Amino acid sequence: MSIPNAIERGERFIKPNSAVIAGWVEANVPSEQLNEIWTCLARQWLEMLQETLDDGYAITESEEFVLVAKEDVRLNSRMLASCEHARRTILKTLPDVARDEGYGKHVVLAFADTESYYDYISDFYPDEGEYAISGGVFLDQGYGHFAICLAYGDDHERTIAHELNHNLLRHLPLPLWLNEGVTQVIEDLVVGRSYFSTDHDIVRRHRAYWNTKTIDAFWSGDSFFSPDDGQELSYHLAQVLFRNLMADFPKKMSPLLNAAHYENAGDTALRQLCSVSLGDRVKQFLRDGSWEPGRSYSESD
Ligand SMILES: [Zn+2]
Repeated sequence: MSIPNAIERGERFIKPNSAVIAGWVEANVPSEQLNEIWTCLARQWLEMLQETLDDGYAITESEEFVLVAKEDVRLNSRMLASCEHARRTILKTLPDVARDEGYGKHVVLAFADTESYYDYISDFYPDEGEYAISGGVFLDQGYGHFAICLAYGDDHERTIAHELNHNLLRHLPLPLWLNEGVTQVIEDLVVGRSYFSTDHDIVRRHRAYWNTKTIDAFWSGDSFFSPDDGQELSYHLAQVLFRNLMADFPKKMSPLLNAAHYENAGDTALRQLCSVSLGDRVKQFLRDGSWEPGRSYSESD
C-alpha cells in the first residue's frame, strides 16, 4: 500500500498524517478488513520510523501490540507480555466501562534515552504534560500510540498500565480527577503492588494547599498540570477520593464511571448514584470548607 502524503517530517522523526490516512482507509477499505489493514499501515509507518531512529531498534509483535524498542529479545518479550497482561486486567476489572475501540494493534514506542523521547513527543505534544512525571504518554493523534522512555527506570509496566487504561476509557467524558483516580488504582492492580498511603505528612500538605480557588482547579483538571505541589497533590487527592468511593460504594463504581461528566466534575452522577456530593467527600478527607464544584467545566486534555 502506498498512500501519497501519508507521512510528515517532524524536527527529527517522522509522523503519520492522520487525516490523509484515515481518508484513504475510508475510501478504500471494506469494514471487515479494517483491523488487518490498519495493522499493516502501522507496520509500514514503524518501519519508516525505525530508519530515522538510532541503530539497534527492532520491531516485535504480540497478539494485540506492536513494540518498537532497542533489540533485546528478553526485555522486549517481557514488555509485550506486560502490555498483554495490562490489557486483559483492565478489560476484566472494568468490563462494562473499558473498551478496546478502534482498529489495528496497539503501538508502543520505547525510547532508550530521554533525548530521543523528548524529540519524538515534542512533534506531537509541545506543551508540558503528564509525561514530565510519568516517563510515558499516549499520543492521541493519527494512529494513537504510546511513547515511553526506558531511561526513567524500569517501572515501564506501571507506565504502560497507566497509559493503556486512559486509552481504554477515552470514549467517556470523564472529569480528569476521576480518570486519574481510577487509573492509579488500576495501575496498582496490574503491577500487583502499591505506593499509596495517607500519612500525617501528606494530609498536612493537603490541608495547607487546598482552598476555594485551588479546588476549582482540581475539578477543572488544571491543577494536574500545576508546576508547584499541586500536581502531586492532585494525583494523590484523586486517588484518595476514588479509593474512598470504591470502599463505600463498590457496586456503584462502574455506573459512576459511565455516567460522570466533566461539565459538572462528576458531581451530578455521584449525587444520583450514591446520594452524596463531591463537596461532602472532600470535606470528609480535609476539613470543613466549600469544596463543591462551582461552575461548568470544559474538557481537559
Ligand atoms: Zn494519567
